[in-house]
Amino acid sequence: MKALDELTFDNRFDRLGDAFSAHVLPEPIDNPRLVVASPAAMALLDLDPSVAETPEFAELFSGHKLWADAIPRAMVYSGHQFGSYNPQLGDGRGLLLGEVYNEAGEHWDLHLKGAGQTPFSRMGDGRAVLRSSIREFLASEALNALNIPTTRALCVIGSDTPVWREKQERAAMILRLAPSHVRFGHFEYFYYTKRPEQQKELGDHVLAMHFPQCLEQPEPYLAMFREVVERNAELIAKWQAYGFCHGVMNTDNMSILGITFDFGPFAFLDDFDANFICNHSDDQGRYSFSNQVPIGQWNLSALAQALTPFISVEALRETLGLYLPLFQAHYLDLMRRRLGLTTAEDDDQKLLESLLQLMQNSSVDYSLFFRRLGDQTPEQAITRLRDDFVDLKGFDAWGELYVARVSREGTLDQEQRRQRMHAVNPLYILRNYLAQNAIDAAQNGDYSEVRRLHTVLSNPFEEQPGMESYAERPPEWGKHLEISCSS
Ligand code: AMP
Ligand code: MG
Repeated sequence: MKALDELTFDNRFDRLGDAFSAHVLPEPIDNPRLVVASPAAMALLDLDPSVAETPEFAELFSGHKLWADAIPRAMVYSGHQFGSYNPQLGDGRGLLLGEVYNEAGEHWDLHLKGAGQTPFSRMGDGRAVLRSSIREFLASEALNALNIPTTRALCVIGSDTPVWREKQERAAMILRLAPSHVRFGHFEYFYYTKRPEQQKELGDHVLAMHFPQCLEQPEPYLAMFREVVERNAELIAKWQAYGFCHGVMNTDNMSILGITFDFGPFAFLDDFDANFICNHSDDQGRYSFSNQVPIGQWNLSALAQALTPFISVEALRETLGLYLPLFQAHYLDLMRRRLGLTTAEDDDQKLLESLLQLMQNSSVDYSLFFRRLGDQTPEQAITRLRDDFVDLKGFDAWGELYVARVSREGTLDQEQRRQRMHAVNPLYILRNYLAQNAIDAAQNGDYSEVRRLHTVLSNPFEEQPGMESYAERPPEWGKHLEISCSS
């Protein structure tokens, strides 16, 4: 375990120089205090969880204090937002404080979001509000607990600093951890500003730091692109399997490492709805739940375009072609497991699609359905779940197919089936209304609810005594919260 001042910095991105980022100091927020910290994320930096309670911790992650070896930098990037190219984005309110190595030799970027204005702030105030910081914190740690690749969150620090959104709110900062903060938009920036040398420097950096295995391939850039395609296909398969809606899949919010990145108005599905739009500002539904799959491909083609100086169009096209089949394979594999199936049959896709259609028609709670399916034998579970469906005939027909399908896997022990299914079907999900309750309390100075919710979500597959209310269907108001981009 390390003390806070013992972190080992090695600021590799800083060494790329001023064409890639600008040196900016964080602007402190007033009366900083710990809202919530993640012991699991602290462990990634070898920090003892108890240091979160020290004044130094709040000072470091609110811009009041800086490590001697940290060189804070705002990165420059661009990107396609809602389908249109924006030539200049960049860290407008976040800073890469520095890069840290842990004792296991793992590398972590420390990114402080809400750290004040930078040369890339455009019209923005450089701040993040408490509400959005809590949402990002909870989502990062909840996704990680669901085994979905994501940036991590170390802590949220609250303050008295006023900020103006639709109304006056308070500023907060969140400390985000990731092995890299390079986005698709980084490559687009150097491509569209026609600076192939710097783009190559960036590509070589990413290859050396994150994809060293690709350097041994005959075409390292192509191998890297293939990795990005594979990782994103798997990531989006996991989002779809667990009902996660990102909300703002702009190319500047897509990680080169294929991890969930830059949380805005995200949501986990309550009722299953393929057309669900979680972002109140997304009028066209470009980033609706089911559109995430083709948008993943669209974003990868935007990255491919930016890589045309280095890779032939033919090779890029062929590699892009891997995305959909890979997505399908991962998705079906995960959904088979969620259904408690251990073998593969040709008709499994059909079985799954007809279930989702029935769930859609009857507004069935997506997460609880799968959890309950594993609680009892297939026959018992079907009998119990039937009440949630409006189209009883349709569900009965599906139930028969499902029971027959399970029985073709051979006799099985119900206890084993339950354990296997519960290990992939969470009982606790970050529902919007749960986040909202925690935010309402935190805005009144009570951080106990956000801390409790974080603890529950850190162990989503295990039943936790006394936490039954977190595993219930949401109240009606909780399904209709309007979450916008404003954060
Ligand atoms: P986001 O929607 O958080 O992914 O942000 C999109 C772009 O807007 C990024 O370049 C952000 O840095 C920038 N941005 C968002 N909010 C602010 C803000 N309050 N102040 C300055 N820049 C911001
Ligand atoms: Mg962003």
